[in-house]
Amino acid sequence: MNCFYHPEVPAIGICKHCQKGLCTECAVDLKHGIACKHHQAEVNELYDIHFMHKQSARNMSRVYKQSAVAMSFMGIAGVIGGLVIGRAGLILVAIGIGCIFLAIAFSVYANRMKKGKTNAA
Ligand SMILES: [Zn+2]
Ligand SMILES: [Zn+2]
Repeated sequence: MNCFYHPEVPAIGICKHCQKGLCTECAVDLKHGIACKHHQAEVNELYDIHFMHKQSARNMSRVYKQSAVAMSFMGIAGVIGGLVIGRAGLILVAIGIGCIFLAIAFSVYANRMKKGKTNAA
């Protein structure tokens, strides 16, 4: 493929915005990709959005972890409460154990999300 603006010059990359071939003269290296001179701003903006999205995904996994911790506390409280109340509290014990399992599932999910992100990067 040759440069879109210089058809006789071989392209060294493609603009991330318009997908046109670019030679060394036309390409602008934005560290995170190559853009033509017309689309530097667009590609930078795209990168910003992508970066923000990454950050919010990280925040999400933190939220999942926090709710997992909250649920395990609820679960433990339910188990202890159930044991203190006695046989009538068996339902509380069951809810408590259910909460602990849910908490484990949540933290596993949060870890998996984090791992997926590092693999992608
Ligand atoms: Zn472009
Ligand atoms: Zn060119």
